[in-house]
Amino acid sequence: MLEIKKLTVEAQNKIILNNLDLNIENGEIRVLMGPNGTGKSTICKVLMHHPDYNIINGNIKYDDKDINNFTPTEMGRLGFFLLGQNPTEIEGITNAELLRSIIGERTGKKVDIFAFQKKLTEICAMVGLPKEFMHRDVNFNMSGGEKKKNELLYLFMLEPKFIILDEIDSGLDVDAIKIVGELLKKYYDMYHPTILIVTHHGDILKYFTDYQVSVLESGKIIKTGDKELVKDIEINGFRSNAIGGNLDNE
Ligand code: ADP
Ligand code: MG
Repeated sequence: MLEIKKLTVEAQNKIILNNLDLNIENGEIRVLMGPNGTGKSTICKVLMHHPDYNIINGNIKYDDKDINNFTPTEMGRLGFFLLGQNPTEIEGITNAELLRSIIGERTGKKVDIFAFQKKLTEICAMVGLPKEFMHRDVNFNMSGGEKKKNELLYLFMLEPKFIILDEIDSGLDVDAIKIVGELLKKYYDMYHPTILIVTHHGDILKYFTDYQVSVLESGKIIKTGDKELVKDIEINGFRSNAIGGNLDNE
């Protein structure tokens, strides 16, 4: 279980998250919604311990372990995985090289190259990328849709336990959302990870049957509800009566 208690976070002397409480059970799907600039991406990055953000108060625990001072590498080893809005391009390092080094580092063993190649080939086919993509530089010169598929390749190769999706659906057309949604559902059914989904649209949520949604405003969770709350926000925006009716919908 992830337990965030009274978390206050700053970047460049600006308080972004303010006394935030958020609990997510293992295997749960939690949706995070809220107007632009309220701190959704900050929560995602703080969970990965991005160096731009400082925790100045409060506490983050995962399975009863205090993870406040973990590094991004330690979070990766713990099974946390962030699919961000803009996947990083790394020129000069191929997908196969990066994946092999991560898997080798995590297991502490030499990677069995035949088994690795076989799995990578299968997963390329599954996410809809030509198998040559294993030798492409990480996200480099890939289209938006290819980058999302490339991120899914990492998901299925690394098998994380806690997935953070920061607007994975933004900028995708309906067909691409369908592919991403179906693959995420497939991953969920295979591994039952915990998933934190930041989204502005209900489209990606159609692929999941059971989830809770929390609404963020000014760096704090102001309301948690179910599918009905998502529907209400889609129709009435963040001014909806269901969440107090006092929010600006940017
Ligand atoms: P959201 O994802 O909900 O749109 P963000 O978490 O990206 O919001 O940003 C919340 C607020 O914090 C914004 O006002 C943004 O400008 C500010 N912010 C985010 N990251 C940083 C940073 N690294 N340094 C300074 N300010 C930041
Ligand atoms: Mg954001």
